[in-house]
Amino acid sequence: MGAPAAPALATAPAAPASASASAPPAAAPAVPPVATLEPVPAAPAEPPGSSPRDEQPSGPAPATGAVAADAAALLASRPLIVPVAGVPPSALTDMFDDARGGRRHEAIDILAPTGTKVFAVDDGTVAKLFTSKPGGLTVYQFDPQGRLAYYYAHLDRYAEGLKEGMTLRRGDLVGYVGTSGNAGNTPHLHFAVFRLGPERRWWEGDPVNPYPALRQARPAG
Ligand SMILES: [Zn+2]
Repeated sequence: MGAPAAPALATAPAAPASASASAPPAAAPAVPPVATLEPVPAAPAEPPGSSPRDEQPSGPAPATGAVAADAAALLASRPLIVPVAGVPPSALTDMFDDARGGRRHEAIDILAPTGTKVFAVDDGTVAKLFTSKPGGLTVYQFDPQGRLAYYYAHLDRYAEGLKEGMTLRRGDLVGYVGTSGNAGNTPHLHFAVFRLGPERRWWEGDPVNPYPALRQARPAG
């Protein structure tokens, strides 16, 4: 036949997406935790937007006086359990004031093999599940009145089904001991307590030494 091929239909050029109408939303402001864990190289002490006004109702004094005493008394009034399975209170060491990477530790480290169960020290709610460079896999739990935050860090993994907003009972499983974050080669639970401000921000609070309260706590499990 030899009929000339029909002229190909001109294919319309792909229309460029006109006007990117849906620009990606600006990233929500990251809120790093105030938690001072192990060595925190060049970490900002405060998250952006934090205001110093929840420190003290009046007076410039740091939270080392009446406020700290109040927070310690509040913590002491809570019936706690030791958060790590198999660790008796007598095995705990006060390391709140230890220097870690140029900062005060402001927490207690409880050594246990990877995979050891970590329990809620108190009743309350899961305020935040957060992953940070220093803390690794962490849980922030509030006490029932939202006055204290309990912070569990370096977890290997969370308890199955753990969710933000859920209610915990003292002794409920929250996760497992690990080395996430900057725990190094020593599996341990880094446990800290904060006195929350009136706004109850999980990343903001005055550190309270957990040691005296844990020494009087019941063993877990
Ligand atoms: Zn620690």
